[in-house]
Amino acid sequence: MPAAAVTLQPTEPVTRVSVLLPLPLAGPYTYAVPEGEEVSLGSVISVPFGKRVLPGVIWDTPPDAAVPALKLKEIGLPFDVPPMTGEMRRFIDWVAGYTLTPQGAVLRMALSVPAALEAPSPTEVLAASGLQLPGKLTAARQKVLEVLKEGPAQTSAALAELAGVSTSVVKTMVKAGLLTPHALPEFAFSPRQPDPGFAVPTFSPEQQEVADTVVAAVEAESFAVSLLDGVTGSGKTEVYFAAIAAALQAGKQVLVLLPEIALSAQWLSRFEGRFGVKPQIWHSEIGPVARRKAWRRIAYGQVPVVVGARSALFLPLNNLGLIVVDEEHEGSFKQEDGVLYQARDMAVVRAQFAKVPIILASATPSLESLANVEAGRYTRLELGSRHGPAGMPEIQAIDLRKDPPPRGRWIAPGLERAVTQTLEAGEQAMLFLNRRGYAPLTLCRTCGHRFACPNCSSWLVEHRARQRLICHHCGHTEAVPPACPSCADTGSLVPCGPGVERLAEEAQLLWPDARLAIMSSDMLGSPEKAEALVSAVQAREVDILIGTAMMAKGHHFPHLTLVGVVDADLGLGGGDLRAGERTFQLLHQVSGRAGRAEHPGRVLLQTAAVEHPVLQALLAGDRDGFIAQEMEERRYHGMPPYGRLAAIIVSAPDAGVADTLARALARAAPRMDDLLVLGPAPAPLALLRGMHRRRLLVKAPRALKLQPILADWLSAVPIPNAARVAVDIDPYSF
Ligand code: ADP
Ligand code: ZN
Repeated sequence: MPAAAVTLQPTEPVTRVSVLLPLPLAGPYTYAVPEGEEVSLGSVISVPFGKRVLPGVIWDTPPDAAVPALKLKEIGLPFDVPPMTGEMRRFIDWVAGYTLTPQGAVLRMALSVPAALEAPSPTEVLAASGLQLPGKLTAARQKVLEVLKEGPAQTSAALAELAGVSTSVVKTMVKAGLLTPHALPEFAFSPRQPDPGFAVPTFSPEQQEVADTVVAAVEAESFAVSLLDGVTGSGKTEVYFAAIAAALQAGKQVLVLLPEIALSAQWLSRFEGRFGVKPQIWHSEIGPVARRKAWRRIAYGQVPVVVGARSALFLPLNNLGLIVVDEEHEGSFKQEDGVLYQARDMAVVRAQFAKVPIILASATPSLESLANVEAGRYTRLELGSRHGPAGMPEIQAIDLRKDPPPRGRWIAPGLERAVTQTLEAGEQAMLFLNRRGYAPLTLCRTCGHRFACPNCSSWLVEHRARQRLICHHCGHTEAVPPACPSCADTGSLVPCGPGVERLAEEAQLLWPDARLAIMSSDMLGSPEKAEALVSAVQAREVDILIGTAMMAKGHHFPHLTLVGVVDADLGLGGGDLRAGERTFQLLHQVSGRAGRAEHPGRVLLQTAAVEHPVLQALLAGDRDGFIAQEMEERRYHGMPPYGRLAAIIVSAPDAGVADTLARALARAAPRMDDLLVLGPAPAPLALLRGMHRRRLLVKAPRALKLQPILADWLSAVPIPNAARVAVDIDPYSF
């Protein structure tokens, strides 16, 4: 902007404000406030932007005094929502600064655009109220009413322009009641309140002690992080329910973050059992109408408890008393597109801004959280044993080199026997394989052709139930052709390797009388179907449950006594330093499904690498030993949680463009003793949705603040139009 050219009148009549728009722009824009109107920081108002009308929030940044008054556009009408608090505005600024994304991109999540605040629709904004005032209408007012006979107007500015009058005419008509602004229907809503004392459990002494600690933290009304660390079934959920009850008693709002909320039907019914009502849920699959309603109810303080996925972190809970993050180690808390943020870590920041306690719960805490305990920033609260008679399951390996399954099969004789015994005892078994579909690869036996995704560097997965080959990264699908597209041979295409559908086929062959069910996201589709399956398993209508990671989480199946992990080595390959941690967490979690009631549980891990430290730790039940070893390794390599890491992802439709830009960025890297730049190298998915991707990894000691360095560095390298550069602070995979 040509700032220097403008001289302001000393008595400029215009009041300027900064407005942050929910768009990935560099910062807030400056607007004028119409004469006689008042706005305050945080107000949510509509503003003209280009040809559109958008919601915006009056931001704290000083407005730009250099734009000539005549060029300024006026802000429109306020939305019927409470202003955004200073606390929330600071939080948005913080997240934007930390993740190196524009504030507006974060605001977009906070306003839940477009659903929560659609641009006011014409019928909602300005229409003649039908009110008759005594006396004659002025000519200007008549013109306005004339225009409105054609239909309601979008903004006062637009209405004024159409009528050829000044906006102040419109404003005074609104004040006089001649025009009705923004007639959003009032919602009458008085939800049944959760009852903190509805079904209070009797705690064991160990649980009581931990519960007292978290309740005291809630009552202290100050920031504190507790890591609730306890084996599956030890009562972590019951304990944090006690903290929620305390917050409700104090009249505060509670936010609970869960991974895969869409599928946590069991959690919701437990909540209802404990508090007598359902909580408000929030996740990306809620439809726009429900979303808008929920957002507004939350903003007006009518919702005491929200349970949601990542995005719930940005809801306008203005009276927070507690945040809970369950399964805090889960990788799905890291958002991998749009604004790249780790919701668990940002939840801690939000708690800090709101000055409230936060509970992170897990049976296998992330190394990040454990390092924070080590450093004294978080308090670890341990629950050592399972509640009631259930002991921990016995974990054994089946060495696939010594006891291999027959050719073309995946269930080894040892696992087969164990399942048969379990079924004979009238109990349930679970077969775990973290792979959706029928087969991960389809191959031509004649010419060796493999079916790959045209947009991604990945194989197409056969889904036999849907009769399609599907890319699990971009969703590309195609039909299985009758002949090989490469050599035209017919009948030569063969599936390679198992997915859950193929495993189910094998199980049906082995146990023809058993009732089978597959539990994977694509086979179930909706939360209702998932809930129905969980109930069917609990009602013992299923004998063998076959499923993916979706099944590993949180479910309580009292009659399930055997868990067979079909491929325990899956996930251990590849160069990712987090592979060990992730596999340990997943297998530990799956094992926790076995023997949760009076029957003891048993877990069999099929592996061809039984000496691997992850498997050894699982077999020995030595979680702490495993963690100590992983921590040592991370410390040695200066990797998170002991070092800082950022990934710079360069992507372009053309591989050459991506390579050139990645190399230019590497050459421009700042020379600093503490900063190590690795790469460029192909990103973990070198081709994704048609974009070629290269990655630079930036490594630094914890004490170094990476963001300003990265910002300077990236702004010095011109980025061609076709290419994109994204920064991922604290990448999940490294
Ligand atoms: P976690 O969250 O650690 O996996 P949960 O809180 O889900 O453990 O507890 C496991 C099971 O034991 C649940 O069915 C829960 O209701 C029950 N439970 C735990 N503690 C108690 C208690 N003190 N009284 C009654 N039931 C309990
Ligand atoms: Zn693809």
